[in-house]
Amino acid sequence: MDLSIVIPLLNEEESLPELAAWIERVMHTNGYSYEVIMIDDGSYDSSWNVIEELSRKNNNIRGIKFQRNYGKSAALNEGFKAAQGDVVITMDADMQDSPDEIPDLRRMIIEDRYDMVSGWKKKRFDNKLTKNLPSKLFNAAASRASKIKLHDFNCGLKAYRKKVVKSIEVYGEMHRYIPVLAKWAGFRNIGEKVVEHRARKYGVTKFGWNRFINGFLDLISIMFVGKFSKKPMHVFGLWGSIVFLIGMCIWIYLGIAKFFFAKFNMTDRPIFYIGLISLVIGTQLFLAGFLGELISRNSADRNIYLIEEKIGFNK
Ligand code: UDP
Ligand code: MG
Repeated sequence: MDLSIVIPLLNEEESLPELAAWIERVMHTNGYSYEVIMIDDGSYDSSWNVIEELSRKNNNIRGIKFQRNYGKSAALNEGFKAAQGDVVITMDADMQDSPDEIPDLRRMIIEDRYDMVSGWKKKRFDNKLTKNLPSKLFNAAASRASKIKLHDFNCGLKAYRKKVVKSIEVYGEMHRYIPVLAKWAGFRNIGEKVVEHRARKYGVTKFGWNRFINGFLDLISIMFVGKFSKKPMHVFGLWGSIVFLIGMCIWIYLGIAKFFFAKFNMTDRPIFYIGLISLVIGTQLFLAGFLGELISRNSADRNIYLIEEKIGFNK
């Protein structure tokens, strides 16, 4: 199968028929074999009925219905699990992404050998103040932290080599950082394509103001998990030891000053408190590292490594 098109959706009943027809048109013109996987992320409008209807008419269209709303990441994750095409395309259901981009995206994966291509909504048709500006800041931060040169991490329109989607796990709100997840999984060849963006035709946006707070928290945790989750002691243990040593030095100095020179009461000196706090914080950091180490030793995926190829084992 050439293509799997994965579409997460929440209450998008008006858009679905138009979107499906448009995708069908593009697939026909290019002669692709394809499947469309629509994941209904707990809609409470008639989206699921629409999907059932579409699937009945076109047997390339498949649907997955969540029992409740789990979020876009969960929907993508399920879609990735089900996808069978050599190239997997994700797109939003609200018709802000254009299916006309699909042939080019596919070509970049197949011919230009990219592992993943992310869309870039260079010209955006969203609210300037509440969306475009924060999104610029957010992308700059994500790009710096992850060292991936992308302008638009959170674009819904993306293309992947099949192997990539089978190697990554998207959870929480991590759909914003799939390029980072792909990079951590070892897929470095990440490209970008300027894509057409359109104004939302039906319905309203499903993400509120808290997208920014959650977005940044997720960025921090993803960088941290990627770097240190297998060796927490290297961070906490190191800093714990350093802080503890500083505290010890201060106390030795204070002790000598008190017992040999007896000028001050120990507690009269500000440095006393710095020493005290350093000892406490140092111990706590060290303990956090130790506990982290124990947890990571017990975690189920501690020995899961992605192996690209093996040779000579079946001789
Ligand atoms: N979406 C989803 N689950 C959610 C929220 C959103 O599946 O909990 C879908 C939504 O239906 C749409 C896509 O994710 O297909 C992008 O959402 P939206 O267009 O509201 O985001 P925006 O374009 O405003 O960033
Ligand atoms: Mg949208």
